[in-house]
Amino acid sequence: MTNYSDTQLFIDGAWRPATGGRTIPVLNPATGQSIGAVAWADKSDLDAALAAAAKGFEVWRKMSAYDRAKLMRRAADNLRARAEEIAVMMTLEQGKPLAQSRMETLAAADIIDWFAGEAPRAYGQVIPSRAPDVVQMTLKLPVGPVAAFTPWNFPINQVVRKMSAALAAGCSIIVKAPEETPASPAALIKAFADAGIPAGVVNLVYGVPAEISEYLIPHPVIRKISFTGSTPVGKQLAALAGLHMKRATMELGGHAPVIVAEDVDVESVVGMMVANKFRNAGQVCVSPTRFLVQERIADEFTDRFTAGTKAIRVGDGLKADVDMGPLANDRRIPALEALIGDAVDHGARLTTGGRRIGNEGWFFEPTVLADVPVKARIMNEEPFGPVAVINRFGTLDEAIAEANRLPFGLAAFAFTRNSATATRFGNEIEAGMTTINHLGLALPEVPFGGIKDSGHGTEGGSEALDAYFDTRLVTRKG
Ligand code: NAD
Repeated sequence: MTNYSDTQLFIDGAWRPATGGRTIPVLNPATGQSIGAVAWADKSDLDAALAAAAKGFEVWRKMSAYDRAKLMRRAADNLRARAEEIAVMMTLEQGKPLAQSRMETLAAADIIDWFAGEAPRAYGQVIPSRAPDVVQMTLKLPVGPVAAFTPWNFPINQVVRKMSAALAAGCSIIVKAPEETPASPAALIKAFADAGIPAGVVNLVYGVPAEISEYLIPHPVIRKISFTGSTPVGKQLAALAGLHMKRATMELGGHAPVIVAEDVDVESVVGMMVANKFRNAGQVCVSPTRFLVQERIADEFTDRFTAGTKAIRVGDGLKADVDMGPLANDRRIPALEALIGDAVDHGARLTTGGRRIGNEGWFFEPTVLADVPVKARIMNEEPFGPVAVINRFGTLDEAIAEANRLPFGLAAFAFTRNSATATRFGNEIEAGMTTINHLGLALPEVPFGGIKDSGHGTEGGSEALDAYFDTRLVTRKG
C-alpha cells in the first residue's frame, strides 16, 4: 500500500531485530489500522547498545571536531535528499499534514548543519594566573555517552536536537525514540549511518519506555540524560538522574499564555495565531493555549478566532488541502473530551468544536473555549491538543499575573504596539522563551527550553552544547 516499513534497532552500526524477536505494532492515526511494527528491545539489547556507546565514545571523542562536522553535514544532505519519502513515513505514523512532515525533515537538516558549525568552537579559557610560571586553562570535553528519550509529536525534530548537540560535542548516544512513530526517527539515524558515522556512536532502541529509562539512567556507562515529554515523567527521570549524579536536560510540558493588548491589529494577530494553534493538531509543547485578550477587543478577537478555527480543514495528512491531521494517538481523545466537558461544566462558552470527528482514526474538531474560569482543569493542565482558550483581562498587571499563575514556564507569546509594554512582557513573563509580535521560536541558533516545572537546560543555541561538555580545569606550573 505504501512505502512504510518495519523498524529495527540500530546497535553498534547494524540494523537488527530485538534479541527476543518481540515487536510492537505501529498504527496509522488517520485510520487506526496497523501499518507495521517496531522492534521491542530487552535488557540484552540494551546491554549491547551500552557496550557500543562506550566503544563509540572512545572513537568519536578522538576524531577532530572538523571531521565530526564534515560527517554531520553529509548526514544533513542525506536527509534533504530523502525528505519526500521520509515525510510520507512521518505522516503515515504521526498524522500531521505532509507539508509539516516535510518541513520538520528539512528543518532537521538545518539543525544538524548549525550544530556542525558549532563543533569546532568548543573554546575553553586561559585564565590569568597569579604567578608568572603558572598557566591555568579550562578545556571543554565531551561528558560521555548520552541516553536520550524523545516523544511522538515531532518524531525527527525531538531526536535531532539532542543528537546534533551530543555529536557536535563529541559524545556518543543511545536514542530511545517513540514507539508510536518509529520509522521517521529511524530514517534520521540512517542518514547518519549512510554518512559513515563510526559504529557505536549512534544507537537507536525502542521498547517499554519506563523499563528502558530505569535501566539506562543509572547505568555507569551513561553520563548524561536528555528527556522530552510530560512534566510528571520528567520529574521522575530527573530524580533518578539526580540519584545517580547524572547530568540532565529536561524539556517538559507547557501551557503557553498569549497576551494580546488592545492596541494590536486583531485580524493579523488572529491570522498568525490560528495557524500556530492548530499546527500539529496542537500537540506541541510550545503551542499557544491561554489567550489573554484585553477587554476592549476581546469580543472581536473571539469572533475572528472562532471563524478562523471553523475554516481549518481537518483530514488525512496525506491528502492535499488539509490543514490539520488526526491526533497522534487515541489517548488524547478521552483526555480532551474530559477537559472540554469540565470547562463547560464550569461555565465556559464553547464557540466551536469540542468533539471527535467520525469513528475512523483519531480526528478531533479544532476547538475554542471562551471565558473559562481559572478553576477549570484546562486552565491548569496542558491540553496537548487542538483547543484554544480565550479569556479577557483589564489591566496589564492582571494579564501578567495570569500568565505567571501556573507552575509551567516554557513558551509565551505577546502582542502590543507599545514598546514600553513589550519591554514589560519580555522582563516580567515567567517563561523560558517569550516571542513578542512575531513567531520567533525554535530556530537552531536560539535557546529552546523552559523554566519552573517546564524543565531545565536548553536544546538550541550555543548553550545547548554546554549540556554535553564538562568544563575541566588544567593548571600547570613551568
Ligand atoms: P506520557 O507522559 O505517558 O509520555 C510522554 C512521553 O514520555 C512519551 O514519549 C513516552 O514514551 C515517554 N515516557 C513516558 N514514561 C516514560 C518513562 N518512565 N521513561 C522514559 N520515557 C517515558 O504521555 P503521552 O500520553 O504519551 O503524552 C501526553 C502528555 O505528554 C501530553 O499531555 C504532554 O504533556 C506530554 N508530551 C510532551 C511533549 C513535549 O514536546 N514536551 C511531547 C509529547 C508528550
